[in-house]
Amino acid sequence: MVVPSATIDSLLKEKEQYPPPASFREGAWVRDERFSRDAAKDPERFWSERAKEFDWSRPWSTLLEWKPPFARWFVGGTINVAQNCVDRHAASARRNKAAIVWEGEPGEKRVLTYAMLMREVNRFADVLKALDVKRGDRVTIYMPMIPELPIAMLACARIGAIHSVIFGGFSAKAIHDRVEDAESEVIVTADGGYRRGKIVPLKRTVDEAVADLPVVRHVVVFARTKEAVPMQAGRDIGWDAAMAEADPVCDPEPMDATDPLFVLYTSGTTGKPKGVLHSTGGYLVGVATTHRLIFDIKEDDLYWCTADIGWVTGHSYIVYGPLANGATTFMYEGAPDWPHPDRWWSLIQEYGITILYTAPTAIRAFMRWGDEWPKKHDLSSLRLLGTVGEPINPEAWRWYHRTIGGGRCPIVDTWWQTETGMVLITPLPGVTTTKPGSATHPFPGVEAEVVDEKGQPVAVNKGGYLVISKPWPAMLMTLYKDPERYRQVYWSQIPGKYFTGDGARIDEDGYFWLMGRIDDVINVAGHRIGTMEVESALVSHPKVAEAAVVGRPHPLKGQALVAYVVLKSGHKRSDALRADLREHVRSAIGAIAVPDEVYITEKLPKTRSGKIMRRVIRSLVSGQEIGDTTTLEDPGAVDEVRKWLEAIEGKGP
Ligand code: ATP
Ligand code: MG
Repeated sequence: MVVPSATIDSLLKEKEQYPPPASFREGAWVRDERFSRDAAKDPERFWSERAKEFDWSRPWSTLLEWKPPFARWFVGGTINVAQNCVDRHAASARRNKAAIVWEGEPGEKRVLTYAMLMREVNRFADVLKALDVKRGDRVTIYMPMIPELPIAMLACARIGAIHSVIFGGFSAKAIHDRVEDAESEVIVTADGGYRRGKIVPLKRTVDEAVADLPVVRHVVVFARTKEAVPMQAGRDIGWDAAMAEADPVCDPEPMDATDPLFVLYTSGTTGKPKGVLHSTGGYLVGVATTHRLIFDIKEDDLYWCTADIGWVTGHSYIVYGPLANGATTFMYEGAPDWPHPDRWWSLIQEYGITILYTAPTAIRAFMRWGDEWPKKHDLSSLRLLGTVGEPINPEAWRWYHRTIGGGRCPIVDTWWQTETGMVLITPLPGVTTTKPGSATHPFPGVEAEVVDEKGQPVAVNKGGYLVISKPWPAMLMTLYKDPERYRQVYWSQIPGKYFTGDGARIDEDGYFWLMGRIDDVINVAGHRIGTMEVESALVSHPKVAEAAVVGRPHPLKGQALVAYVVLKSGHKRSDALRADLREHVRSAIGAIAVPDEVYITEKLPKTRSGKIMRRVIRSLVSGQEIGDTTTLEDPGAVDEVRKWLEAIEGKGP
């Protein structure tokens, strides 16, 4: 979507700076600015050096073939991602090192060493082969957060099948559409999984989803909860029984670097989910390199990314990045507040987790639940913190730094997308002086710009469109079965540059500040305001935990701002507080940004991936019907938001 004027007024000015602690810098993989400068001078050389760190069955002949908008990396090379993530380490001194440390929501514990993981992946790859899954076939995976999920993904990668992982919270309808689009003949699932003490009935949901999809030949079912589930003779197969019959050795298929590794449907915050297709060689090199350097991974780290593997963050930074680096990746099955809001902090203390990577939405929830929960636990094993998924409000950043990081851990605020496959804008924790709320700088070898609608760079501190100027290794190949949509969504706005759909500004020191999605920008009396800045101003009020701001048509101003605010535990709504919040925004960022109305609510409506559904709120408060409910991930979401609006203050705005 092209908006009439690209520039966005920036009102938020954050002055604090946090240089990397000297002790962190000393041991870091990257401790010198020269590293980024060298990469910027010759990005192709930088990526080719990184790629040499992996096992190639045949070296590439052309590093990058760029025929806009299609980029092919490591052309001519062959490589297997599972072999690089598992066999390579199982054949080294890491053989008995923990690859995956897992805890189930009810409290069971499992550890898989690289040698153990190798046996499981080989066997499951053989199971898939026995079901006649071949190179290039699509396998849908719908599982809880248990080790069998990465095992199934790696088994696909081993034989060259393309996996399509669907988040375990999705409905039968969502599965149906994705299985149909991907034409998956085999589905891997579990009887159920645990969430907040209850069983999520995954197998039953799959049955409903595929009832009218004859394309599905087999459903493999792992017994997680061991509850009885219906099994359809001839179609459904028990995981354990199949594994018992399987050959323990299944040779990795040498894949072309430019073959697809997986398809992943985006979270659908802005509309119909897109089937993002990722490559083999470029993706592996991109995610492994970013994972090692951004999280500064060392042999003895216990690294925890709290995302669900159903999102790209879990693909890249729970499974492929960490395992490619021979790291130990921690997985937890359940909810953060089960049985109490300190489950995460107790896991960190008990296992001695050293690196934590999570989302601003989780951080704000913890802020809301109160400091007493983290304070009960010793979090001193942590040495580095990360965030992803939304802009982090400076107030939430400071809370994370102080309350979770004890003031000693650098924070990496990582900007990226399902489409980018890897982090593109981020601090490097040993060199970058961070500013709360800024994702800082493009990763070495990545070139990003903020431009106007003509593609011209905007002035310092002016908001505009964030674009990526050159291909990067983990860039999406295309949208599955829809190259035209790929071209149109990402490459038609600014010729030759990847259009991210996000607004950003670059400050006087060259720091990137993400301002939210361009579609969310609100035009008030000729000023274009990013929702994120007004939300951040609200969140900086001591009683506020979370805020969502949307625009509503206004006869004079064009649009008026409406704010929805969630308070921290222990605070009550009152008219005085609402007035105080408006005053707070006035003094923090100015009169132009003061919301016409402030509603105090118990919770905000979010997508399955935890992002605020501003688009739906905006359409409903504008009195527009949502024309394209079919394109919404979950049409039920509209009703959910409608009910939520009605419940606020009795009847809604
Ligand atoms: P869809 O594309 O289907 O609408 P989505 O954009 O929410 O869904 P993702 O690819 O998971 O799906 O999210 C990427 C988006 O998340 C980015 O475009 C950006 O808006 C936001 N984002 C991610 N990380 C950050 C960050 N560190 N700072 C600011 N925004 C971020
Ligand atoms: Mg997106």
